[in-house]
Amino acid sequence: MMASPCQELLHQTLLLDIEVNEKGEIYSLGAVLGEKTFSVADRRRFNSNTLRDFDSFAKDARFVLGHNILNHDIPRLQQIAPALHLFSKPRIDTLFLSPLAFPANPYHRLIKNYQIVRDSINDPVQDAILAGKVFAEQWDALVQQFKANADVALLYRALLASDANLIGTAEALGCMGIPLLTGDDVLETFAWFARKHCCGAAVDHLVLQLADSQDSLAPLAYVTAWLSVADGNSVLPPWVRHQFPQVPVILHQLRESNCRYEECAYCQTHHVPQRFLHDYYGGFQRFAQSPRPMTEKACKRRSSIPRHGVLRCLQPCRPEEASRSAIFCPP
Ligand SMILES: [Zn+2]
Repeated sequence: MMASPCQELLHQTLLLDIEVNEKGEIYSLGAVLGEKTFSVADRRRFNSNTLRDFDSFAKDARFVLGHNILNHDIPRLQQIAPALHLFSKPRIDTLFLSPLAFPANPYHRLIKNYQIVRDSINDPVQDAILAGKVFAEQWDALVQQFKANADVALLYRALLASDANLIGTAEALGCMGIPLLTGDDVLETFAWFARKHCCGAAVDHLVLQLADSQDSLAPLAYVTAWLSVADGNSVLPPWVRHQFPQVPVILHQLRESNCRYEECAYCQTHHVPQRFLHDYYGGFQRFAQSPRPMTEKACKRRSSIPRHGVLRCLQPCRPEEASRSAIFCPP
């Protein structure tokens, strides 16, 4: 049977995992390349000879892949052996792909919080293999997303590729058949997508700011993932908040203030308190002017009001007040 493109890529990729003790010292390393494995299970064996052997084991690898290798495994190895050739290879980090591949459920069954749920204790070879399995599932999920909503997947690749640290991970999306958007197309596609889920004026403002900046656009990939499921089961994983603190800030900018333009479909739907009244308590057209003039203000202050939020700011008035005011109070 012919190998799938994903299996082919995994076959050419060094799967890597290291274990570190409380002092930050590497005490074991496991790696897989094709049919071969490499493992060091004794801290005393971490010397320049072992690491030279490891480098020659990895020399034919096209990519280096692991879970959290960008912030953990690679920097630790670089501390003790900065000159390894494997550091020049593109890196695929399954931790960074996870919230993109599974936006509606960032807690994939193999990933808990930000760590892979391992089925072996302290066996880095098995953990490296597990990262390969996670990648294969991410591949399937991302290919499905590309078929269902090409813009989202196109944005993932282009936005990750804008970050020097994530170029290898973006290249993996290329291997999945997702083309690379470049130049103005990146922010234009983002704006077109985001306007469907956010305030149009806020999107235009953000895109103008970003067009002039040299910063990595990677946080927008996680904004895109969240927006792609914003009206359903979306959770911003704690890891995303920690790694990209800009993401919740951008989401707030894009969705939580009212631009007050009549032509802004998002704000007209999400920030008009009268519409909440009508939608939640069908038949009520306006707020009572007295005796609770604060109610409307309180309602306006709340943004993206969930049902319980409306209930909290629309305090029911007493029956005698109801008869005097234009609004009928909920029972
Ligand atoms: Zn708006």
